[in-house]
Amino acid sequence: MSRSRLAYADPPPVQRPCDHPGCAANGDFRAPRSKTTLQNFYWFCLDHVRAYNAAWNFYAGMSAAEVEAEIRNDTVWQRPTWRLGARIASMRGTKWSGFGLFDIDDEGNTKVHSPKRPTSPQEKALSLFDLQPPLTLIALRTRYKELVKRHHPDTHGGDRDAEERLKEINQAYSTLKASYFPA
Ligand SMILES: [Zn+2]
Repeated sequence: MSRSRLAYADPPPVQRPCDHPGCAANGDFRAPRSKTTLQNFYWFCLDHVRAYNAAWNFYAGMSAAEVEAEIRNDTVWQRPTWRLGARIASMRGTKWSGFGLFDIDDEGNTKVHSPKRPTSPQEKALSLFDLQPPLTLIALRTRYKELVKRHHPDTHGGDRDAEERLKEINQAYSTLKASYFPA
């Protein structure tokens, strides 16, 4: 059979129920019934076609009739479904990507969140100093000296903004020193 024959063999799009027993969703996704009968398809909803694809190796050696029997046997069907669900469940939650926070939703898709704005004086100070805990006193002091040098009003011709920034830097230094290295 040629490629074009296969392409023309696609059934026209119609509303079909998902072939998974008891599923009320539309069967919008097709999956070959077995490797020996690739022209015959099951029609599944997205969830069930994913589960079916995940279980493909399990069904690979079976005849169409055997696959049919296995699919009607809900206990066997549930196994790959559960596995897929468990894998997605383990991916859920918030992960630090190094670029920002990502949430992984039920579909395994990621959603980018803008990084959380610092809220506490301590977080603001860390953000201003561009430091992450754990801190060392040497690192804190080195960074402080750098920032003072960069923002000192003397190096900005007595600029009021530089004066304000220096105040913030001094305040942040006090906050960090009190938080991490209490006397
Ligand atoms: Zn379904």
